Amino acid sequence: MAMARECQYSAQLIEDFLALARDNTNNDLETCGVIGAFLRGGTFYVTTLIIPKQESTSSSCQALNEEDIFAILSEQSLFPLGWIHTHPSQSCFMSSVDLHTQYSYQIMVPEAVAIVMAPTDKSRGYGIFRLTDPGGMDILKECQEKEFHSHREPAGGRPLYEHCSHVFVNPNLILEIFDLR
Ligand SMILES: [Zn+2]
Ligand SMILES: [Zn+2]
Repeated sequence: MAMARECQYSAQLIEDFLALARDNTNNDLETCGVIGAFLRGGTFYVTTLIIPKQESTSSSCQALNEEDIFAILSEQSLFPLGWIHTHPSQSCFMSSVDLHTQYSYQIMVPEAVAIVMAPTDKSRGYGIFRLTDPGGMDILKECQEKEFHSHREPAGGRPLYEHCSHVFVNPNLILEIFDLR
């Protein structure tokens, strides 16, 4: 695939999201949000965090009324650059269900990312991930399973997903938050 265009986000995204998730986190419930970005000069700038109405458990989070998310994104001419969610008691990794969610974003925007916040993971508090392409994207495309399940490994020893190398912090970006809960 062509080299991924760079993405920049404000460190505020991480801090503000954790603060907005705190009540859920303390109750061992996940929280999820969608990030919106504009594209200028070949770089994506994350400017918007949308916290949708949602239903969650300790290991899953489902956005409700997804049309509300896309209404805000299109009103502001933003790309859905991925999503952010907490693992309140699990480690920092991508579950099989997370991989399917990420697939749906990465199909829309190849640079889309999954930010996983794991405040109780002592070794890694957060990670920014994407499906490998080729590799994970091909396997997820063919997978029809729901709920938690296992995936076969991509050919050639590639992982299903990887840490993003195209994402950078930009301290000058201002973040706008829409909390729809
Ligand atoms: Zn997850
Ligand atoms: Zn699957």
